[in-house]
Order: sequence, then C-alpha cells, then structure tokens
Amino acid sequence: MVKIIRKPRTVREVRYHSDGKPYNHSHFEPPIIECACGVELTLWNSATNECVCNRFYNGLGQQLAHPKTWECETGERFDDHGVPIL
Ligand SMILES: [Zn+2]
Repeated sequence: MVKIIRKPRTVREVRYHSDGKPYNHSHFEPPIIECACGVELTLWNSATNECVCNRFYNGLGQQLAHPKTWECETGERFDDHGVPIL
C-alpha cells in the first residue's frame, strides 16, 4: 500500500535581484510517497523511481513491475522476417 505523503506542486515566490528589483521565481516540487517498505521516496523522475527495497514507482506513485520484466510484458512477437505478429 502506497501512501502519498506530499502531492506534487509548483512553488511560486518573489525573489530580489542584487539591485533590489523583484522577480517571480517558481520551481516544481515532485511528489513524495511512502513505499510499502516504509521508506519515504521522492519521485524526481516522471517515469521510474527506484526505492532502496528494489520496488519501482512511476511519477504518480503507482508501483511498477521490475524493469527487467517489461520486455516480456509488452507481448510483442515477431516472425522470421522481423514483422510484428498481431
Ligand atoms: Zn521501498
């Protein structure tokens, strides 16, 4: 069970140049989840994020299968000429 600790957000703030003129600054803060193993994991990558326990999550906090199994999961097959079999 994955718990969302912090939702992703864009932080906007006013900063000041050295001459005192203000400017708008914004930066993106990625979501933080609590992995099934109890570790807090920051989802910096929108595609895959690996926890220390070897679980994988996408940028939305959804758990993924281990990347080494992805090849078989696509279910694509090819004939002798390299043409995909539908
Ligand atoms: Zn974990």
